[in-house]
Order: sequence, then C-alpha cells, then structure tokens
Amino acid sequence: MAKYVFVTGGVVSGLGKGITASSIALLLKSRGYKVFMQKFDPYINVDPGTMNPIQHGEVFVTYDGCETDLDLGHYERFIDEELNYTSNITSGKIYKSVIDKERHGDYLGATVQVVPHITNEIKNKVYEAGNTSNADVVITEIGGTVGDIESQCFLEAIRQIQYEKGSIDTFFVHCTLIPYIYGSNELKTKPTQNSVRDLRNLGIRPDALVCRAPFNTSQTMKEKLSMFCNVPVENIIDSIDVKNIYDIPINYYEQKIDEIILKQFGLEIREANLDYWKKLIKTVDNLKNEIEISLVGKYTELHDAYISVVESLHHAGYKHNVKVNINWVDSEKLEKEIDLKEVFKNTKGIIVPGGFGSRGIEGMIKAIQYARENNIPYLGLCLGMQLSVIEFARNVCGLKDANSTEFDSICENPVIDLMADQKSVVNMGGTLRLGNYECTLKKDTLAYADYKKDKILERHRHRYEFNNKYIDVLEQHGMVFSGKNEQANLVEIIELPKHNHFIACQFHPEFKSRPTKPHPLFDSFIKASKAHAK
Ligand code: GLN
Repeated sequence: MAKYVFVTGGVVSGLGKGITASSIALLLKSRGYKVFMQKFDPYINVDPGTMNPIQHGEVFVTYDGCETDLDLGHYERFIDEELNYTSNITSGKIYKSVIDKERHGDYLGATVQVVPHITNEIKNKVYEAGNTSNADVVITEIGGTVGDIESQCFLEAIRQIQYEKGSIDTFFVHCTLIPYIYGSNELKTKPTQNSVRDLRNLGIRPDALVCRAPFNTSQTMKEKLSMFCNVPVENIIDSIDVKNIYDIPINYYEQKIDEIILKQFGLEIREANLDYWKKLIKTVDNLKNEIEISLVGKYTELHDAYISVVESLHHAGYKHNVKVNINWVDSEKLEKEIDLKEVFKNTKGIIVPGGFGSRGIEGMIKAIQYARENNIPYLGLCLGMQLSVIEFARNVCGLKDANSTEFDSICENPVIDLMADQKSVVNMGGTLRLGNYECTLKKDTLAYADYKKDKILERHRHRYEFNNKYIDVLEQHGMVFSGKNEQANLVEIIELPKHNHFIACQFHPEFKSRPTKPHPLFDSFIKASKAHAK
C-alpha cells in the first residue's frame, strides 16, 4: 500500500513547488524507497499538447506517449524514474472522463456534480498512481496556488484523502513565500500565515511548510510560524535561493524533511545514499571551461520552451567539464540576417530542436546550411532532422523546391511528408506519433558509435516523416540513414559522415537525459563541440 505526499503552493506561483516535490522524491529514493510522481494541472486543456510553447513552455513526453507539463521533465531528471500517463492529470482529463461516463450512463441516473463525481475521479487518479506504480510513496504536486478558483476541486479531493487515510498514510507539504522588505530590512511571515489560513479554510492541515526566502529564517520566526500555522517548529523548512538547483535536495536533507515524512509514515529511516548527488554538485560548481552552443528555434523568447534540450546540453557539459552557454538565435530573425558569421562567431556547435508550423523555418535551414558548410558540430532534433534533410536535398542534391508538406502542401519534392496513418486524422490533440518506438542502428555509423548497441528505444512527438522515395538520391550524395524503425520502415536518424559531426534524429533524445547520465547523442555532440573549440 502506497503512502501519499501532497505538495501545494501559496502566496505566489513560481516558488519551485516542482523542485520541492522532486527533491522530496529524490531523498526518499536515496533511502531505498520506491517513489512515483504525479502532477495535477488545473487547466481545461486535456493535455498541454495543443498549447502554444511560448505560453506554456515545453511539452514533455513520457515513454508511453503522454504529452505532459514540463515539470514532469524535472521529476524524471531528479528521480531518474520513467513516469507515465498517470503522472499528469488536468482538469480537462478529469472532466472529459466524467462527462464520457455520464454519456455512457455509468452514473445510473444520478445528478453529476463536482462533489462527489469530479472529486472521486481525482481521488481515483491518485490511488491509481499508487496501485499501478508499486511505489512505496507517491508524491503529487497540485498546480496553481491556494485560492485559485481552478484548483479548488483538486484541493477538495486531497482534503478527502487526508480525511480517509489519516496522517499515517498522507503528508501535506505547503510551499510559501517569506518576502524580504527593503527599508525595514526584515523577512515577513504574514503572507505565509494567510496562505496557511486559506488552506485550513479548505479543510487541509499542512504537515510541513517549505518557506522560500532569500536567506534562512530565524528560530524565533519559525516559532511564530509554528504557533500561527499549527505546524511543529521542526517541520518548517527553509528553501533559500540557490545558484545551483541541485543544492536544493541537500538543503532539505540537512533539515531532515525526509526523516520527518518517514517518521510520520511509520517507515524505517534507512541510510541515505547521496554521494552521487554531492559529486554532481561539486562537478557543476567547478566546471573548468565554457563553450557556446547556438540554439536556433522560433520559441526562443521563452527559454522554458526548450527546457529539456537545455538541460541535456548541460548534462553533457558536466561530463566533459564544460559550462555550456546558450546563444539563443531566433530563427525568424535569421531569415533576414545575412551576416551568419557574426551570429555564430563564438559558436562551437549548432542545435535545431523541435517545432511546429512554417514560421522561422527558412532561418533554421540557413543555420543548418551554415553548420554543414563550415563543419560546425550539428545536432538536429525532430524538426531539426526534417530540416536537415530539406537543406541537403535543396543545396547538395539540387532539388531546389524540396520541402515538407507541413510548410508547402503542393511542393514538387516533398522530402518530408505526412505519415500514412496521419492522413485520416481529424483531431489535433493526442494524435501525433507519440512515445517510445524502437530504432535499429546501422553498424559503423556515428549513431552506433554513440549508443554502442543495435536497438534503442526513444520517445517521439511528430506527425511528419522522411519520405522514403528520396532515400536513394540523398544516399548517393552522401547522407547516411543510420537509424530506422523497421516495423513501420521509418527513418529515425540521419548523418553526414564527411562532416566533422552532423547528426539528426526524428525522436526527442532530450527527454531521456539525466544530470548524472547524459544522453549519448548530447554526450557526443558536446564532445565534438569541445574539440571544435580547440
Ligand atoms: N512539425 C514536425 C512534425 O510534426 C516536427 C515535430 C517536432 O519537432 N516535434 O512532424
């Protein structure tokens, strides 16, 4: 039987609730407990798959093809566990499921209401995560801030869980803000007191407070918070601003948050193995060199739109002892830019990540051409692979109008085309080629040298594919198709052996990189970029 930790937020958003939830999970895992994580998002979209990345940030994809909030990426990177479709629940998913059941007649004539039907559905999702994951502890983060209209039904559902299961099986962590007032130069507890009162008005009694502040709160302040918020003083945890997010689990460990939780659960306090994490912190704090990697995309105004790509670059940097600095290149601006030499003057590697729609495409193609012609290490991800194919077809094979039917539906040389099984798709949401697919690697290729095995599993999120009609002509001009999905006969990886380091894949390797285990494609890309820097 799983135990449940819930993480709520108060005062303001953006306090690092996701990192708090992940850190707790990491600490429990480090003590030998199996953990699973889940995020509730109060928006009405069924999933973030249809949302604009500039508004919402990256869409993270699980191995089983669920399009999720980017927080799940933080979870996976922190706890190094693969999450699944039970890990990201939205209001849209909950309402859709309840309405489908109502239409099916499952409620046997009852009036369908927020309480109990919506709240039961939410509770079922929590318990489903516990039952199917086999975890000792499930950590659930509730998106939004206490007081939001949207998250009320989620808070009511977890209140019921607190009531049903009691404190031996549940633990509630409330993350709040302790602001610093300049002038009087002091930290203030009132917003936290008010936020806990709001939570208690909803019937939820927090077991611990995680207080975000610029520096540690004093013992007197903790005593005051404890008295006003009904939380034991030792359960008030400081969460100070840090330079390196990997410090956060260690900060919490020193304040014994995991021991407090395990004690309440009546679980044994086993020894924590955090050596690997401390080693990581040391590495990150002492990187010797720096290199610039240019990331060319159209969502560059919101860096969160590429969060997993950025993290993966950093992970590979840790292994090669370099700090990766990102040169954010807006592909739309690049379309009009003639001085590419100036744009890329300090760049040691170019990356073109995923994306949708025609805006900025020609700018990305220009960047790819620049990388290819100047022997700059290149890594293309999903759209970045499709555009590498277009660039090569146009500029090397002489197929001047080569394009993807995503951008030009009537072009004469559709080197990238809609997948056969996508042609009849009507709904936009959840209908891409999603999640894990197998890829077979060709021997004596860069891909094979990177992965060192024949078969790999990688996560996908795309609708278009390489058009196999063009394999021969591209091969004759020197492109190598080094990875294929044999079942559906789909190209998964392309590379240019004559180039210093030019490789691109149809899948998203960035979802599988970990701080202590960089992904092979990022690993070799940073290695090549570092060599190029020399
Ligand atoms: N837009 C392209 C497609 O749908 C690429 C998608 C992506 O980069 N994730 O196939």
